[in-house]
Amino acid sequence: MTLLGILKYPDPFLKTKAKKVESIDDGIRALIRDMTETMYQARGIGLAATQVGVDKRVVVLDVPDDEERRERGKNLMALINPEILESSGSIKYEEGCLSVQGINADVERASNVKIRALDREGNAIEFEAEGLFAIALQHEIDHIDGILFIDRLSPLKRDMIKRKIKKALEAEERAL
Ligand SMILES: [Zn+2]
Repeated sequence: MTLLGILKYPDPFLKTKAKKVESIDDGIRALIRDMTETMYQARGIGLAATQVGVDKRVVVLDVPDDEERRERGKNLMALINPEILESSGSIKYEEGCLSVQGINADVERASNVKIRALDREGNAIEFEAEGLFAIALQHEIDHIDGILFIDRLSPLKRDMIKRKIKKALEAEERAL
C-alpha cells in the first residue's frame, strides 16, 4: 500500500478530463487500494484519480450515514468509469475538497442521481443515491471531468475564492 500525494489547486492536472479505463487489471486494483488509503489518511469521504495525478476514470468513496459518527469502511466503494444516468431535485451543501485547502462553499447540485459504473471486479453496477451520497458522487465525477467544486460557484464568488487561495499561497512562499 502506498500513500499518494494529493494535488492541490491550482495544479493544472486537476483540469484533466480523465480517460476511460479499458481493462480492470491488478494495476487498477492497486490504484484503488492506494487511493482508499490516501483518502482515509486525509480524512476525506471521496477521492478521484485525477487528484493523485492519475489520468483514469476511477473514484473511491466512503460516505458516512451520519457525518458526526464516521465508521471507516462501512460504505466504502470504488467506481470505475462512473456515469450519471439520471439526476433530479436540488440540494445545497457546504462542500470542501482535499485539493482545495481551507475553502468551503455552498454548492447547488442534484439531490438524487442514478449512477452506472463498473466495480473493481469489472461487474456493471447501477444504483440510486440521494443526499450527501449523491453530492459526493457528483463531486467526484466532476473531478474526473476536470471540474472542481469552486468551478460550480458564481463567477463573483469563484474569483473571490481564487484570490484568497492565491494570497495564501503567496504568503506560504514567503514563509520560511
Ligand atoms: Zn474534491
